[in-house]
Amino acid sequence: MSNRIDDFGIQMIKYSELFYSLQGEGRFVGVPSIFLRFFGCNMQCPGFGRDGDSTPIDYKSDLQIETLEDAPIPNLGCDSAMSWSKEFAHLAKKDLPSTIAQKIVDLLPSKSWQRNENVNDVHLVFTGGEPLLKGNQEDIMQLIMLLPGLKNVTFETNGTQVISEEMIDFFNYDRPDIHVTFSVSPKLKNSGEEYDKAFNHHALKIMNVVGNSYTYIKAVLSKVEQFDELQEWIDMYYKRFVKLDAIYVMPEGATVEQQNNYAEIANECLKREVYFSPRLHIDLWGNKWGT
Ligand code: SF4
Repeated sequence: MSNRIDDFGIQMIKYSELFYSLQGEGRFVGVPSIFLRFFGCNMQCPGFGRDGDSTPIDYKSDLQIETLEDAPIPNLGCDSAMSWSKEFAHLAKKDLPSTIAQKIVDLLPSKSWQRNENVNDVHLVFTGGEPLLKGNQEDIMQLIMLLPGLKNVTFETNGTQVISEEMIDFFNYDRPDIHVTFSVSPKLKNSGEEYDKAFNHHALKIMNVVGNSYTYIKAVLSKVEQFDELQEWIDMYYKRFVKLDAIYVMPEGATVEQQNNYAEIANECLKREVYFSPRLHIDLWGNKWGT
């Protein structure tokens, strides 16, 4: 049961953003995609951009912000803090699944997932915050039921949330035509999060149970030295029989200026035979909401 039932017993989806853009990271860089950014996360990742310093960042803002679009994007810590920090909960939107489904269709340029038969479908990306929090899973299934023709779904997740049996059955039996990509960003030391909270191999093993799926790691690294820690994580996943389809590394940095480690990280990817992921949306449009 969704945890966002309104006073009249109606299920609402709580989200920060809904937009159409190019996928900027990971397996599907450059693919036109609809992004639904859920509100809420089980982590805070205060360490990003702060050289591993995990002192909590106070996201309180004295700005009078009325809409998310007016909010400055944090350059330190989690770059999507507005999608989970309680200080900004008033910026989140709530809509019925049917309303969101209609908004999604309205965002699609051809009003369908595929303008040309059998090629180049638009993807749907669930991001956050953490899209796979328990309360979101039922919302996601409801929403997908309202979106005929959808062929590709990606979850951008921190890899700590176990998907429900209902969700496994949903993808395996109700919508086996949908290809599901789990883009897992494990939170290594540079995130400032504790290992015990961040490492959950069981969550990934359960993702593997979805038949028409692809599970890959998208690690955010700022220094070459962090590749060894990533390798330790990968080894631990393998030892526990997690099936991984690919490993990507993406340079840390919420702005072009902060991404001064691009070449260094890319060269290390070459050396270690690991896939490199750019952050295309930042290169194209800078660090902005709705991209
Ligand atoms: S898991 Fe992702 S959304 Fe949540 S705090 Fe960390 S970086 Fe931000």
